[in-house]
Formats: sequence, C-alpha cells, structure tokens
Amino acid sequence: MLFLTPFNRPHLTGKEAHYMYDAVYEGKLSGNGKYTKLCQQFFENRYGFGKCLLTTSCTDALEMAALLTNIQPGDEVIMPSYTFVSTANAFVLRGANIRFCDSRSEEPNIDTELIDSLITPRTKAIVPVHYAGVACDMERIMALAAKYNLWVVEDAAQAIDSYYTFSDGTKKALGSIGHLAAFSFHETKNIISGEGGMLAINDERFKARAEIIWEKGTNRSSFFRGEVDKYGWVDVGSSFLPSEIVAAFLWAQLEHLEQIQQRRKAIWQTYYEGLQEWATRHGIGLPVTPPYASNNAHMFYLVCQNLEQRTALIEHLKKNQILAVFHYLSLHKSPFYAPRHDGRELPHSDRFSDCLVRLPMFYDLDVERVVDELIKF
Ligand SMILES: *Cc1c(COP(=O)(O)O)cnc(C)c1O
Repeated sequence: MLFLTPFNRPHLTGKEAHYMYDAVYEGKLSGNGKYTKLCQQFFENRYGFGKCLLTTSCTDALEMAALLTNIQPGDEVIMPSYTFVSTANAFVLRGANIRFCDSRSEEPNIDTELIDSLITPRTKAIVPVHYAGVACDMERIMALAAKYNLWVVEDAAQAIDSYYTFSDGTKKALGSIGHLAAFSFHETKNIISGEGGMLAINDERFKARAEIIWEKGTNRSSFFRGEVDKYGWVDVGSSFLPSEIVAAFLWAQLEHLEQIQQRRKAIWQTYYEGLQEWATRHGIGLPVTPPYASNNAHMFYLVCQNLEQRTALIEHLKKNQILAVFHYLSLHKSPFYAPRHDGRELPHSDRFSDCLVRLPMFYDLDVERVVDELIKF
C-alpha cells in the first residue's frame, strides 16, 4: 500500500550523485579514499571523537566493537532489552551472554539504577543505546564502568548531533563519551548513505587495532602511510569499510547537516506543540528529554495507554493515508533469546513494545497534516 504520508522518505541534499560520479571518474572505487577521509575528519573535528572509521553499517561498527573489546564466550554484556537486534547480535556472535536491562519508566533508555545489580565478575561491557537520539545518563554509566573496570560501547545509531551535559556543566557529543561508539547512516536516520555506519574510537588503546580489524586483519593502513615497507596478516579482522561511492554520498549529506537538523527540529517542535493538549486529554505520553540530554529530532514518538489504543491510533492514521509504526519488541522475549534469558521481568521495556508508536519524520514532511489527523482521533 502506498501512503500519501509515508513513515520515512530519504532526503537528498542535491550533490549526492555529483560526488558519486566524481568518485567513479577519479578511478578510486574501493574504500579509504578521499571521501572516506573527508567524512571521518568532519566527524572528528565537529564532535571531538577520538578517531573515526566509516563502516558499511552500524551493525558492522558494533561487531568491530565486540572484537576490539575482546569479548570471549561466556562473557556478559549489559544492554537495554528495548533496542534493535544488532546491539545484541554483535556480542552474541562472539559468544557473550546478554544481561538485558529494563528501560526507565519515563522513556525507553536504559535504567541506570538497575545496572549495578546486573554486574558480575564476568561482565565485560555496558552498551547504552541513545533511543531517539536522547542521551542515556552517561555520567552514571561511565562511573559504573570505572568502578567495575568495564568497557562502554555507545550504540549511537540514532544519536548524531546530540549531546550530554555532565553535572559540572561540560557538554559532550554523544559518541564521544564511551570508549567506543557506533553510528548508523541507514536511510531511516538523520544523515544517510543508504546503508552505512561509523565506529568512533575514543580510547587510545583501541586506535591501532581498530584500523587493522577494519582492513581485514592487515596492517595495510600503516603501509599506505609509509610506516611499514610491506603489509600482511597481523590480527583477526573483516571487510568493514564502505566503498568510496557510499562515502561520496555521505559527504554530500554532511555538507548540509545544519540545514537537515534545523528542519527536523522544527518538525519535532510542531508535533510537540500541536499535540500537547490532545495528548494530555487522551492520557498519551509525549517524548521526554531529561535535563542532561539534548534532542536531535531523530524521532517523534507517542506512548499510548495500551496496545488497543495504539492499534486504533495506527488504524485511524492508516485510513487517512498516514503511516505510523511501532518499534522494538523486547529482545529478552524474542524467539531467539527468550530461552537464554534469566527470567527477570522487564515491565517498562514490554510497555514500550506495546504502547510506543513513531510518527512520520522526514525532511519534507507535511507535519501539520499529521497533527490535524491525530487531533481528530
Ligand atoms: C538503526 C539502528 C541500528 C542498526 O544500524 P544499521 O546501520 O542498519 O546496521 C542499531 N542500533 C540502533 C539503536 C539503531 O537504531
């Protein structure tokens, strides 16, 4: 079924095809060329990430993080249950047991109050997911990691251009706080390249090895910089780097990052103001932004009172040619992981699985139309 107002429509800034054409005719099609370097430098300079490596997806970036943190069979990794499968899969592929944590009652992000009780001598890492681009409580998470000597891998797939403010007033970009962070440029995110991602490496200890894992386990990057006179197989690795054609597309997006963000924030604000009174009247929750977090307008969601109300709301919009969609199903109840889960109930995660609905959010959205139809519900 085709919708007048789809859930997402990829936004082109205009120069994508031009830069892709340029990459093709310069004769450099494989990875780690001019456009890859432009993108990586852009992110490092703008957000203060230690070192950036483009990847073919956020899933890949998470898999690199699991390799870098040296996760071994039987190691435990703590993450929210309310997240995308890739957050967990990357670590499960290395044999980890996942200790799923509940969401906060106010919003889907991990409840940091519960993390302490999940830490055991086998715990190796915490993976906070910045849902909707809204920061998890990173100060608390980094303090726990320091106390128990754990790695922190931020799943920042939705969190480009979003910030966390520490209690001393310091503001840092999401993805620059954990030891490692993974971003996505999938076409449903704010900044896109079709499929695409990036690993931000903030801890010095990972920098050299990250480049090797990225280049199939070879020291090829050192070779191209003239640091070694031949390159070979020096570690495990895989093919994680995207082609220059993908990086060229991404570069065109980055040139317009401010404009994209401004537009999305304006849409988000129109939703928020237009729906406030209506939402209160129906007992429907609007997105919550804690005082330490910023809003990068990745997503606008509603939290319905129950599954029936959500189903009726989605149906109402569908009848009016608007596609709104629900999101994650708790991973601890998934067919794959339920038999491995330790049996703890995670009620808030389940409530967001049943009650959260995402409204259309894209650059040229007619947001007034969606607000008008919702208010008739
Ligand atoms: C989109 C997303 C991913 C996966 O990103 P890909 O680039 O599609 O691999 C992982 N985690 C979260 C939280 C996401 O939103």
